[in-house]
Amino acid sequence: MKKKQYKTSSPEETKEIAGQLAAQTRPGSVYALHGDLGAGKTVFASGFAHALGITEPVSSPTFTIVQEYPFGKGIFFHLDLYRIDSPDAALAFGIDEFLYAADGIALIEWPERIQGLFPPHTVYVDIRRGETEEERVITVEQPD
Ligand code: ADP
Ligand code: MG
Repeated sequence: MKKKQYKTSSPEETKEIAGQLAAQTRPGSVYALHGDLGAGKTVFASGFAHALGITEPVSSPTFTIVQEYPFGKGIFFHLDLYRIDSPDAALAFGIDEFLYAADGIALIEWPERIQGLFPPHTVYVDIRRGETEEERVITVEQPD
């Protein structure tokens, strides 16, 4: 595991960190995005999508579970599992299609809902509030 930590002081900076990660992504990549409500997961997802070349605005998919954004090299899947209450419910919903999509890149908010289902190459991102209103600490753990 390769672990890196960043501190950001604005939503724009968080998007920039997400963009750096997106620049290294490959088809089949999966990102588990941990963090409390309002931490900045959707802000992060939006910066990530933008760096992939997606121009459509990315908003919180809380009421739809998954939103799909096609881009040059495949499809970006943005999932919000807030309303999924168990791994079984996620499997019934068809989560496998997104976690194991060959040409897809999946970024998942509320990944704790499906602990145990993530593939070994999953990148874990954790966003926490810092000491000031706009400060966030972002930890990225990437398998070697
Ligand atoms: P989540 O998806 O984790 O519930 P959102 O991304 O929807 O959270 O919202 C994060 C909120 O925090 C936004 O209103 C954003 O403007 C604000 N914010 C303030 N500072 C930051 C920062 N450094 N990084 C990300 N978001 C920030
Ligand atoms: Mg969100």
